[in-house]
Amino acid sequence: MEIEKTRESLRRFTRQQMMELDTCAHCALCTEKCPAYAGSDVPNYAPGIRSSKAVKLYNKQLGLRARFLGPKPVTKEEIADLADSAFNCTLCGRCMETCPFGLQTHELWTSVRRLVHDLGGSLPNVKMLDEMLGEYWNPYGLDADMRLDWADYTDLEDAPVKDQAEVAYFVGCTTAFKGANHEVAYSIASILNQQKEDWTLLGEDEWCCGSPLLLAGNEERTREFAEHNVQELEARGVKKVITGCAGCFRVFKWEYPKLLGSSPNFEVIHAVEYLRDSLVQGGLKLEPFKGKVAYHDPCELSRLGGVIDAPREALKFISPGYVELPEHGMDVRCCGGGGLLQAANNDLRLEIVKQRLDQAESLGVEVLTSACPACKLAFVDGVNANESDIEVLDILELAAKQLGLL
Ligand code: SF4
Ligand code: SF4
Repeated sequence: MEIEKTRESLRRFTRQQMMELDTCAHCALCTEKCPAYAGSDVPNYAPGIRSSKAVKLYNKQLGLRARFLGPKPVTKEEIADLADSAFNCTLCGRCMETCPFGLQTHELWTSVRRLVHDLGGSLPNVKMLDEMLGEYWNPYGLDADMRLDWADYTDLEDAPVKDQAEVAYFVGCTTAFKGANHEVAYSIASILNQQKEDWTLLGEDEWCCGSPLLLAGNEERTREFAEHNVQELEARGVKKVITGCAGCFRVFKWEYPKLLGSSPNFEVIHAVEYLRDSLVQGGLKLEPFKGKVAYHDPCELSRLGGVIDAPREALKFISPGYVELPEHGMDVRCCGGGGLLQAANNDLRLEIVKQRLDQAESLGVEVLTSACPACKLAFVDGVNANESDIEVLDILELAAKQLGLL
């Protein structure tokens, strides 16, 4: 591997990140909580092992010895080994909450993926997804004019695409293009219509939020996508962006300002926050659901996004007797649906989701809700693989059903 290119990429780690990597004591406290390790027992997937591999690479190129004696080349095998560790991770951020040294591991692992990407070592499926996004602006390689097909399939009467609006519903690729999530989009749109919001969709002008690109380590392309989406939304005079996807929410709210160097001229909220506000303020009246419901916190919405109370406040109206799963809120155990794990290692994803479903099964949960299309897909796949009787619904779908809209 070309030495200068490697050094250049390693220099993209911030000084704080290098200090953090060096600080990692490999105590393995985080390993105990890591879903990727729990689902595999593979040492290479443990967070502490990943940090030691990244440090080794850094030292070979930019460490003290390298400065005096010259850098040593990084081999293809070393990059492949780092990629194997970096992508067998859901980027759930649980290791960050556990680390006694406060290492910002979520950002660290994202930077390690960027390093792997810069060095051309991404896993084949991740590379393909990255290329698909470059060509189609969505990770599924589908034409942009299919973005609104969900509205036809669900017979939504009013799916506005306007030049100007107060509110925009940013649907997101995994909701727009995956059949299992079409009724999530329908539910959100129907609630906005019921509330008589002045709202719009971006239609064909919506590009992927960029989350999968960031997870693939392609920071430059993520920035292009952020610029495009912000431009389209601001041109319509949008004041509030609502998204039903935890990944879209997190990148819009927390990554776009960093990538673009300033905050967009609109507020970003998740649909569950809109739902909570509409229920609390009395605009929406529904019939409470009587079955046993549990809510799974999407990692990108809760631990990484800061939205933990809103779904619970909404559930007090939708299903007052809802039960908490073990390992929830800030300490949520990932469902396996994040971090592009499906592209990297779907067997591991299914094992992780099985472990989460087992927790719901042991509580006798009838309806398992979440607030993210990637979580819903993971749970649907898990329920099918394990022949479980649990019904999987997004919290917005459950609300729409109880409102008589779905
Ligand atoms: S808990 Fe922190 S210090 Fe310990 S291995 Fe994990 S990242 Fe390193
Ligand atoms: S982000 Fe999650 S899956 Fe990745 S190493 Fe940390 S705990 Fe494990």
